[in-house]
Amino acid sequence: MKFWVQYVQYYMDHYSSVVITKEEGLPDLRDKLFISVLLITFPICLLVYIPSIIVSIKTNQFIIGLFDTIAMLVLVLIFFIKYLSIKNKKLLFNATFYILSIVLSIYLGIKGPSFTILICTSVMITLFQSKRAGLISIALNAIIFLFIMAIVPIKSTSLTFFQEYTLVEWIGVGVNLIAFNTLLVFSVASLVNRLNESFLKEKNLLASLKRESLHLMIAKQKAEESDRLKSAFLHNISHEIRTPLNAITGFSALLTVPDNSLEEQTMYIESILKGSDQLLSIVNDIIDISSIEAKSANNQLSKVNLNSRIEKLCNQFMPVASEKNISLIFKTAFSSERTEILTDQSKFDRILSNLISNAIKFTLKGQIILGYELKDSEIEFFVSDTGIGIPSELHSKIFENFYQVEQSFDRLFEGTGLGLSICKALVGHLGGKIWLHSESGSGSTFYFTLPFVQPVPITDARTRAPESEKTSLPRQITALVAEDDDINFSLIKSMLKTQNIKVIHAVNGIEAVEICRSQKNIDLIIMDIRMPGIDGYTASRQIREFRPDVVIIVQTAYYEDKEAALKSGCNDFISKPFSKEQFISKIRENIDLS
Ligand code: ADP
Repeated sequence: MKFWVQYVQYYMDHYSSVVITKEEGLPDLRDKLFISVLLITFPICLLVYIPSIIVSIKTNQFIIGLFDTIAMLVLVLIFFIKYLSIKNKKLLFNATFYILSIVLSIYLGIKGPSFTILICTSVMITLFQSKRAGLISIALNAIIFLFIMAIVPIKSTSLTFFQEYTLVEWIGVGVNLIAFNTLLVFSVASLVNRLNESFLKEKNLLASLKRESLHLMIAKQKAEESDRLKSAFLHNISHEIRTPLNAITGFSALLTVPDNSLEEQTMYIESILKGSDQLLSIVNDIIDISSIEAKSANNQLSKVNLNSRIEKLCNQFMPVASEKNISLIFKTAFSSERTEILTDQSKFDRILSNLISNAIKFTLKGQIILGYELKDSEIEFFVSDTGIGIPSELHSKIFENFYQVEQSFDRLFEGTGLGLSICKALVGHLGGKIWLHSESGSGSTFYFTLPFVQPVPITDARTRAPESEKTSLPRQITALVAEDDDINFSLIKSMLKTQNIKVIHAVNGIEAVEICRSQKNIDLIIMDIRMPGIDGYTASRQIREFRPDVVIIVQTAYYEDKEAALKSGCNDFISKPFSKEQFISKIRENIDLS
């Protein structure tokens, strides 16, 4: 089989102009069949030619010898002439055998190979050309028989062929031959069609198999990549968590030693706070990425003064930059009054903080410049550094979850690989885009845009400018804190201590509902979600039925909690962990203090 395929290929390369296309349709199949038949017929005819010439000379049938030679020469022509088109080759091939079979039948009579060749020619025509051509050849055969039957009664013809049978016998032979011929042509035509159908089916199957295996390969590569990134993330995260945790536990233990000096105590407390901030930022990253994955796009729009926000952020990062001897420069574009836009301040802060913190982290010396420009209906922000830069082929990768350019375990820079994917998602939520210009070793500039939407006066209590969190509330309010965890309750109680807020504790959802029912003076409920008995959602729903006016703020750790809490009738939510400032401003936003 292998030899045959090589033989066909060799012939097509050297002696044929046929180009078998990859689009294997019926015409291609017929061309292939013709070439195969030609390759078998040619050597067989060559072998048969010599003895048949000898026989024709010995029996003085020179005409047969002559036609045999002509047929052989035409076959050689068909076989070797490369530039003869396949269509003409087929035509010549069929015509040669047709004429040969008629000549043979006339000279050798019905007992010779003539009728076999005639039938074979019809079959080959059906095979190479079409069913229609095959039927035409049958019609031609029928005409030949009619012609013979017309000649037979004329006894004067000298050719023995016509005298061999009586008219009735000729009719019998002719009808049988044509019937057999028709049967063969129809069978071959249907065979070719079936063959073609199964070729097409096989081809489609192969194509879909190829597609499937390609999809599988891509999915496998993605799964492997995500597995690798997750392992790297877990390795980083355990390092990123353990380091600040180590500082917190270590310095907390040192604080309990009785003979610490005041300076030492201050230093320990500062280190504990620094460690907690680091830990909080990691936890925030993880919470943010999971909430982004849960498609959180709720923007809390408010008036944001760009100059003062950016200055505030710069001041926040100034100590870290100075520690590394890096200058942090803010280039203002407009005067303060013109830079007010309507956007989600916490998302804006998060995007810019991540970019500034990265710029500081990946810059060893030099400067960081940040600023913005108004471009048509958008504001384009930039954070440019003189740091280590990023190879251009990784520019899109670094926005993927967990991706870090430096991936070895002894990496120089800390991080979880989540900052930029959070930036990208948040910029998307705010209706902008993010990109960068950078080359390895020559610094990076990150750009992002936000729609330039000028604020209109907003009356919503949520968007009122925050009052000073340091002063207590203008009137006393009563807050019910539904919290099963004692430490969390103590923390909340301490945060509310100086705020003119009377605190009542409920240790689970059932107790929260009961207290609310019995004490009508409760203005605010701080509701935990996961509690024994009934959970925070159910408790909120039940309370809403008899206290439609009470403000319920849910403290949550998961994004899904926020959506469900709002559906259960709660007014607002605050994500754990939260600072005292965030907590108080959340209460002020929701409580009517007039
Ligand atoms: P990480 O927590 O590692 O900083 P990010 O998602 O913020 O995660 O950034 C992903 C990666 O992009 C970083 O690990 C770093 O390789 C590269 N990168 C981000 N910002 C910069 C920058 N300013 N200069 C050089 N590389 C950067």
